[in-house]
Amino acid sequence: MLGGTFDPVHVGHLRSAVELHEALGLDRVHMIPAHVPPHRCAPGVDAAQRLAMLEAGIGDTPGLVADDRELRRQGPSYSGDTLASLRRDYGVRARLVMTVGVDAFLKLHQWRDPQRLFELAHVVVIDRPDHRHLPPEALSRLIEGREAASAGELFARPAGGVLRLRLPSRMAVSATGLRERLAEGRSVRYLLPRAVEDYIRSHDLYR
Ligand code: ATP
Repeated sequence: MLGGTFDPVHVGHLRSAVELHEALGLDRVHMIPAHVPPHRCAPGVDAAQRLAMLEAGIGDTPGLVADDRELRRQGPSYSGDTLASLRRDYGVRARLVMTVGVDAFLKLHQWRDPQRLFELAHVVVIDRPDHRHLPPEALSRLIEGREAASAGELFARPAGGVLRLRLPSRMAVSATGLRERLAEGRSVRYLLPRAVEDYIRSHDLYR
């Protein structure tokens, strides 16, 4: 699972998903837009359009799936509920991974019922070049004894571990930066797939 606001989806998300699929030998990566993200202001672009951009961005990329399960639920999109739903689909023995960028990881202890996340999945943390901070004390306590040194060690169990990954193509691209560029009428070419740029232009978004 790679959840997010995807407001809009960009090459940092998509290339990370491809490299994650490859690096961990995953069956598939569910990219899941949040309906109402609990930890931030409501996105400016509605969920259906964020999903449409995600679908356009993924196109026919092998292994990547645009998953609308959070959009089918009412209320805030809690990751624990999403992982529980994936667990129901894949069964108790499946090895499930929740992937977060390091910026999201540093706030993991503030998510609802963070212990439950580890009962349901492993957490894989992707390094981002533009985000670097020391983990707060509460986060260190939460992940104590959970860190795995390799994917092999992580996947010995179906859930409960933490793995930090530095993927080959780290990209300093953020949706915030893209929204600013679009609002200022500057170019976003190559920062997101052409199909997503075309969708944004044809629906007059982020102006
Ligand atoms: P914003 O700038 O609006 O906060 P964002 O670019 O961080 O957005 P989100 O939709 O919030 O995008 O991110 C979804 C997930 O993808 C988060 O776990 C985030 O850390 C991760 N992510 C976002 N951009 C990158 C990137 N360039 N490289 C790796 N991971 C990323």
